[in-house]
Amino acid sequence: MKAFFDERQLGHNPHTYFRRGAAMPHQEQPERAIILRDMLLKNGFPIEQPRDLGDTPIKAVHNPAYVDFLRDAHARFVADAGPEALAIPTCHPGRRRGREPSDIHGQLGWWMTDTSTPLTEGSWTAAYWSAQTALAAAEDVMQGARASYGLSRPPGHHAMADCANGFCFFNNAALAAHHMRRTWSKVALLDVDVHTGNGSMDIFYDRGDVFFCSLHPDPKTYPTFYLGHAEETGEGDGEGCTLNVLLKQGDGETEVLRALERGLSAITGFGAEALVISLGFDMASDDPLAAVKVDAEGFSAMAAQIAGLGLPTVLVQEGGYLGPSLANNAEAFLTRFRKEIENQ
Ligand SMILES: [Zn+2]
Repeated sequence: MKAFFDERQLGHNPHTYFRRGAAMPHQEQPERAIILRDMLLKNGFPIEQPRDLGDTPIKAVHNPAYVDFLRDAHARFVADAGPEALAIPTCHPGRRRGREPSDIHGQLGWWMTDTSTPLTEGSWTAAYWSAQTALAAAEDVMQGARASYGLSRPPGHHAMADCANGFCFFNNAALAAHHMRRTWSKVALLDVDVHTGNGSMDIFYDRGDVFFCSLHPDPKTYPTFYLGHAEETGEGDGEGCTLNVLLKQGDGETEVLRALERGLSAITGFGAEALVISLGFDMASDDPLAAVKVDAEGFSAMAAQIAGLGLPTVLVQEGGYLGPSLANNAEAFLTRFRKEIENQ
């Protein structure tokens, strides 16, 4: 199983965001990707650099104006506010009745939903190559690989078609799933990051060709809030093609594996021909954003269950922060997944 990674993803370097009423150190650090890359090297995964597919596959999912905004937003912001200022929105349009302004401060609020996506000088380049990394893994599987891993960073699953959210700019897993529709008529996207894949859900909510399932604690009480409720099942052509399986905060492996089984059986029922996994490791007991308790053995068991579907699978890296077991958990999942598919 190949992995894809591009060092330009390290250039997004946010140091601060606002949470619980205070400026906090930002958890989505470049070091995460270095730890994961070193784990891949240690375990003999071949790592390739993604090729550049341009922005067409990104604009196929995201609002083209949002993509164009991100390209030079940081440069425009510092030209106005100075290099030390934080490119974080401080005003928002509410529920989107209105028009995009031309002022950079107004635009930040228009295209970003919260304070967790501060733009730094390398943010556009990092987000762009994070997207290309997921697309490269998708192409690898479209060309016949049984599975492929995209070490994408910054993560993507909270990004919606027209806005950044929850550390995410481009929805890498959604880009992969949409791209894979060129080869398969039915694709499933399964999100096992501890947070709801709210952006992915929103992108595919009215589509019947991509089934979306996410496992996460109740969004009534757990970030990123707002979306991911059990009664949200899709609409229009997508009716019945969204499944949110709710966990309880504090749940352990048994409950998580049971929820995963429910998701996998729905994916089989949908008739998926290929699979994308939004692969977060923040279900770990010692993750800084932990809400449930999974250890390395649990991640290994999850990998075996997912591999058991026997589908061409793209694994796209999402969350999993700088807790002590990040490398161990990623290693447990990816080496087990590789072993299972080699034995099939
Ligand atoms: Zn997460």
